[in-house]
Amino acid sequence: MSFFRRTTGVQTDPAQLVRDLEQCRGNTQYYLQTMNGLLYALKEFSFDIAEIKAEEFKKRIDEFGKKLVSGDDIRSISDRFAHDKEYILAFIAKEKDYLRDREGELRNIIELLTKGLEALTGANEQFNAHIYEGNLRLERMLNLEDLRKIKESLKVEVEQMKTAIKEKQEKDAQQREHLASHVKGLQVDLAKAQHASMTDGLTGAFNRLALDQHLNRLVERCSMSWEPFSLLLCDIDDFKRINDLLGHQVGDRVLMALVQHCKSLVRKDDMVARYGGEEFVIILPGASLRQAVKKAKTLCNIVAQARYIIDNERPEEKLGFTVSIGVSLLRRTDTAQAVVERADKAMYHAKKGGKNGVASERDTH
Ligand code: GH3
Ligand code: MG
Ligand code: MG
Repeated sequence: MSFFRRTTGVQTDPAQLVRDLEQCRGNTQYYLQTMNGLLYALKEFSFDIAEIKAEEFKKRIDEFGKKLVSGDDIRSISDRFAHDKEYILAFIAKEKDYLRDREGELRNIIELLTKGLEALTGANEQFNAHIYEGNLRLERMLNLEDLRKIKESLKVEVEQMKTAIKEKQEKDAQQREHLASHVKGLQVDLAKAQHASMTDGLTGAFNRLALDQHLNRLVERCSMSWEPFSLLLCDIDDFKRINDLLGHQVGDRVLMALVQHCKSLVRKDDMVARYGGEEFVIILPGASLRQAVKKAKTLCNIVAQARYIIDNERPEEKLGFTVSIGVSLLRRTDTAQAVVERADKAMYHAKKGGKNGVASERDTH
């Protein structure tokens, strides 16, 4: 049996064979080192992503690399590679899928963010335009190949968004503050207007409109739960004469003085209103006819005793005036008009009795 492989007509030189074998060994070593380098590049190229077990992949590549330079026979290395090849390809596919998914997620997040911001900002066109520009930049950014570049760009965009949102919030807060103070001002104006619409400009007493509304409300309330009130109708005696003798300005001051007297005598829930001209109504909720007459007499006396300096240069000349007061009490079948009419009738009774006095509805029978 021949030791050498049979070749057609060629005798192989054993020395040449040894040289060829040496060269072959050298080549194998060279290939193995090249493979090892490629494996290192493959390892470095993969990302450190825990979800796809990149750590395990790198470890396996390291082990395979060690096997390449361990001096094991080629068959054993080749078997190992056949086994690991499937694993490496599967890992690369997994990594690609992962990155694609991440990009999709990133897009979704940006879309969500943008929509949320647009909804938040409502009709603020300028801000919407700013966010839209940002969105376009983010879209362009997604086309970048390098994840690190995406991360850096995203960081810049997020910072810009944060600044834009902060500016918007500050502007909104300012606007809210401005609106709040404006609304406050309007509320004050409204309260003033409401007060003015219910008040007599000269005396500060409630006016006829306020009196009618209040009376109707009280009468209606009494139809549900019986809480009667007394009513005083107070008329200045000979007021026309005061006007004629001393002038309308003095007449006006007399009206104001009477209201001050009335207000000083009544409680918080009582109402002093100008019924018309020199006639005033005082409503005393919960007061009986007797109590109301007593109060009317007190008012009558206080007014009659008061004296007023008309001219500072002639302080010795003082003015006094008197009032006549009629008093009525709400009845179960009453209307607002009826209770006022009875007080009016009583007031005329007091006038007929010589003025500067008080009469109740009972005196008129
Ligand atoms: P009596 O004692 O019978 O009540 O007589 P009187 O003069 O008080 O009553 P009369 O109704 O004759 O006159 C009321 C006067 O009140 C007439 C009107 O010019 C005056 N008057 C009504 N409103 C005002 C006002 O706002 N200011 C002034 N200064 N006078 C007013
Ligand atoms: Mg009168
Ligand atoms: Mg009068």
